Amino acid sequence: MTKKILLLPGDGIGPEVMAEVRRVLDWFNEKYGLPLEMSEDLVGGVAYDRHGVPLASTTLAAAQAADAVLLGAVGGPKWKNVGYDKRPEAALLALRKELNLFANLRPALAFDALLDSSPVKPEIIRGLDLLIVRELIGGVYFGEPSGITDIGNGQRRGVNTQVYTTSEIHRIARVAFEQARQRSNKVCLCDKSNVMVSGLLWREEVAKLHEAEYSDVELSYIYADTCAMQLMGNPKQFDVLLTDNLFGDILSDEAAMLTGSIGMLPSASLGAADTKGQRKAMYEPAHGSAPDIAGKNIANPLASILSAAMMFRYSFGWTEEAAMIETGVRSVLDAGIRTADIAAPGKKPIGTKAMGDAVLQALNTSYSSARVTQKAALA
Ligand code: NAD
Repeated sequence: MTKKILLLPGDGIGPEVMAEVRRVLDWFNEKYGLPLEMSEDLVGGVAYDRHGVPLASTTLAAAQAADAVLLGAVGGPKWKNVGYDKRPEAALLALRKELNLFANLRPALAFDALLDSSPVKPEIIRGLDLLIVRELIGGVYFGEPSGITDIGNGQRRGVNTQVYTTSEIHRIARVAFEQARQRSNKVCLCDKSNVMVSGLLWREEVAKLHEAEYSDVELSYIYADTCAMQLMGNPKQFDVLLTDNLFGDILSDEAAMLTGSIGMLPSASLGAADTKGQRKAMYEPAHGSAPDIAGKNIANPLASILSAAMMFRYSFGWTEEAAMIETGVRSVLDAGIRTADIAAPGKKPIGTKAMGDAVLQALNTSYSSARVTQKAALA
């Protein structure tokens, strides 16, 4: 069955990195024969420029009709004076909310070839394979009441509300436990239950669910501030880190730095499974639109290319093809081919397009050698 993919390149480096993803998808479609149908639309600042809103209703409808959405990045200084509801980033929150994408999966994987690119000592991160499972459509980013009010005497008051319910906690905790079962079988819940009652609810509800359905998985707890320290000092103690929207946002960026560059980290945002087991899903790099390097052909496209691998695995069940992309990326890095953000000192970096070329070359090589082996086996 043909898989319909909606590409939303967005702003800044989004279109540059997405162009390389498109080439990889075209390769799988044309050369490898995967049934992919791609369409493209505007999101973020460029959509605001065209439609006066960062997410047009037609784009949202296309996202809802697609089997998966691949997003580049949104935002940039050009839109800094746009009204709060129409800022480019509002499109992201709207897509997550409208597609009900409650589960954000952010792997942090240390590639051996990049150990020297991390600001953290190699022995601390060698072999790191951590998955952050972040609740994505609840908590303080969406809770009501929220807003800024005038309280007189020249004073204003800004309010956001941290709020979670049992079912919101259970559905994301289930994702974490299920993922852990396919990995090292450990979940650590990260919260601030020492000072926030919403955190206390997380602890109690995750413990109840664990006891009732997932007692085979090892469950531990950590406060978010301690977690921030432990991620720097001893990140390999974690397998699956389960956390809310706010802490997940911050800690996943911290975990990104462990791996060397935010330009390396993919992410998946998943909705609930329907009766056929299909989920709405959006895949995107962990980084933003990087206005400081946009348009220079120096952005690292690997986070976006690896996001396409996550799409193959989580949305389409194409694990072999996902592994082909991941192995291709690994072999490119092993060969010392690097963009500026991950370049070894004294080594000349390559550009965004050249990195796309290198990944395609790696795919071609592995495909040709697989065909040679296949032919030899048949002969
Ligand atoms: P950023 O992730 O865009 O950039 C942070 C730093 O990392 C910059 O120095 C940038 O050059 C570098 N960087 C990021 N991606 C890179 C890549 N692929 N290759 C090489 N270097 C890379 O974060 P920021 O500067 O805080 O935000 C810039 C804009 O992006 C803001 O408008 C912000 O709101 C938006 N943003 C969007 C998303 C998203 O679309 N999902 C996420 C975060 C930030």
